[in-house]
Amino acid sequence: MTDVALLLKALQFSAHKHRFQRRKDADASPYINHPIEVADTLANAGGVTDVTILVAAVLHDTVEDTETTPDELEAQFGREVRLLVEEVTDNKALPKAERKRLQIEHAPDASQRAKQIKIADKICNVLGVTYNPPQGWSLARRREYLDWTEQVVAGCRGSNGALEHHFDEVLRKGRAALAAGA
Ligand code: NDP
Ligand code: ZN
Repeated sequence: MTDVALLLKALQFSAHKHRFQRRKDADASPYINHPIEVADTLANAGGVTDVTILVAAVLHDTVEDTETTPDELEAQFGREVRLLVEEVTDNKALPKAERKRLQIEHAPDASQRAKQIKIADKICNVLGVTYNPPQGWSLARRREYLDWTEQVVAGCRGSNGALEHHFDEVLRKGRAALAAGA
């Protein structure tokens, strides 16, 4: 299968799995917008051409947020993609605060590929929390979220300089916007 065909297959699979879900922003955007944005960020801000990373980015929330199993991903997309998605999947059996702490603790141990997906995911969520926030979040909660992403990304550095620089800029502008009361 060509890289383009594989990426389209991943988009189709992810769109189907997330078809009834929405993001938490005021517009309740279609969920699939988010994995597309993460893959686009990797390719066009991070210069990533490794199709395994881009496919895993498109699929990165399927195991965490739908009934998709790692076995299913392996059958459709191979073992590398399965392992990469598993690396960026939280253990949902744990309480949220613990999951957030473990993301910071485990980030340095992730593979170079998984670190790039994590950075791109945080870039997109910082943009969301800053300019299109989940409903009901106070300014303080949004600032805390930005602080947390900085800690996770600290453990992902050294994997993609362009992406890390983009994160730094997005975070700086996001903090400025929230400081101005956005
Ligand atoms: P959530 O984990 O519930 O929400 C954030 C996640 O939602 C993102 O990481 C992202 O994950 C997803 N998401 C969906 N839509 C958007 C969007 N438009 N913009 C950005 N992200 C979006 O919340 P928290 O991260 O805050 O985690 C809960 C923690 O918050 C707990 O530890 C709790 O103690 C604390 N808390 C703090 C409060 C406060 O006021 N300070 C109040 C209540 C709880 P993905 O990419 O994986 O989909
Ligand atoms: Zn995500």
